[in-house]
Amino acid sequence: MSTLAIRPEVNAARTGEAIALYVHWPFCVSKCPYCDFNSHVRASVDQEEWRDALLADLAHEAALLPGRRLTSIFFGGGTPSLMEPATAEAIIAAARDHWLVADDVEITLEANPNNAEAARFADLASAGVNRISLGLQSFDDASLAFLGRAHSADEGMRALEAAQLAVDRVSFDLIYALPDETEESWQVALAKALGLGTEHVSLYQLTIEPGTRFATMVAKHDFEPLGPEASAALFEMTQDRTTMAGLPAYEISNHARPGAESRHNLAYWRYHEYAGVGPGAHGRRLGMRTVRHRKPENFLSAVARNGHGLIEEERLTGDEAANEALVMGLRLAEGIEPAALAERLGVERLVNEDRVGRMIGLGFLDRDETILRTTASGRLLLDSILAEIAA
Ligand code: SF4
Repeated sequence: MSTLAIRPEVNAARTGEAIALYVHWPFCVSKCPYCDFNSHVRASVDQEEWRDALLADLAHEAALLPGRRLTSIFFGGGTPSLMEPATAEAIIAAARDHWLVADDVEITLEANPNNAEAARFADLASAGVNRISLGLQSFDDASLAFLGRAHSADEGMRALEAAQLAVDRVSFDLIYALPDETEESWQVALAKALGLGTEHVSLYQLTIEPGTRFATMVAKHDFEPLGPEASAALFEMTQDRTTMAGLPAYEISNHARPGAESRHNLAYWRYHEYAGVGPGAHGRRLGMRTVRHRKPENFLSAVARNGHGLIEEERLTGDEAANEALVMGLRLAEGIEPAALAERLGVERLVNEDRVGRMIGLGFLDRDETILRTTASGRLLLDSILAEIAA
C-alpha cells in the first residue's frame, strides 16, 4: 500500500488552489420512505444554535485549509430550504471571510417545493444563493403520494416558477422507474421535464436502499420494484431524449446544457478536495477523509466540546484514494485520465490494463488516447466494471 504524498505542511504551497464547501442541514418536515440520507424530523429547530454550530464547524475546516480559492458552496440535506435565509447568509459570509472567492462562485441550495419554502427563494437569493436544486420528484400526485412527498404536483410547478424568478440557475430532481412506470408514462414525464426551460435536471431511478421504509415494504411484498430490464429500457430512453433536447448526461443521473453542469458535484467526481461541515457531512482535505457526527444532537455536543463536529479523520492510502477516484471519475461521461490521476494520487497505476482491454472488447469501456470512459451500456453496469478493473 502506498500513502498519499500530500501532508499538512505543504499547505502554504497550496494557496489559491480550488476548494469546494458542502454544508449539511439535517432536518426535514417528514421522512420519505425511500430516503437513506442523513435526515431527521424534529418538532423544532433552534436556528441560532444551528447557525453558531455550523459556523464553528466551518471555521475549523477553514483554519486547516488557509488561502484556498472557494469555487462552490452546496447546501444539501435534509431540507436546507428550511433554513432561515439569515442562517444561509451568515454561512456564506463566513466562507467569504475565510477564503478567497472565485468570481463565478456557484452557491447551490437544495429545496423542497412546498409553498412555505418557495416563499423564501427570493430571500435566499439575496443571501447569496445563485443556484436552486428543487426536489420535484414527480409531476403526478399519485406518484408523489407513493413517494411520501409533502407537496402536490401543482405546488411543485409553482415552486419551480418561484425558483426560476429568484435565480438564474435552476435544476430539479425527478425519480423514475417507480413500480408501475411504463415507457409511455416516463416518456410523457420526460417530455414535460425537458420543456420547462431549466439548464440542468437530475433523473434518478428509484432504488430500494437498506434500512428504509420501502425496504421493509418490499420485504413484506407490499410492492414489487420495477425489474432490471424495464429499468434499463427507461434509462436508455432517458439518455436518448435528454441528448436530443440538448441536456445530455454528464454523469449517470445528471443532465445539463454544456457549461451548465453542477460545478460543485464535478469537484466530487473529478476527485478534487472539498470541506464538508454539518451533521454526517463527508469531506476530503489534504489527503484525509473527514466524517462528521450524523445525529444532530451528537453533532451539537461535539461542536460544544471540541469546536468541530468531526467523528472521524483518516489519512487515505494511495490505493484507497485511487479506488475512490476511479469510482467517482467513471460516473462522468467525460471519463478519466488514468495516468494523470495515478500521478496526482502518488500511485503506480489506477487500473489493470489487461482487464480494461477486456471491458473495451465487451463494449463497456471506451478509450480515446489517454482518456478512459464508460460507454452508455457500461454506465448501467458500473459497479461490476469497477470491481473488475481496479488495479
Ligand atoms: S426531503 Fe429529501 S432528505 Fe428529507 S426525507 Fe425526503 S428525500 Fe430524504
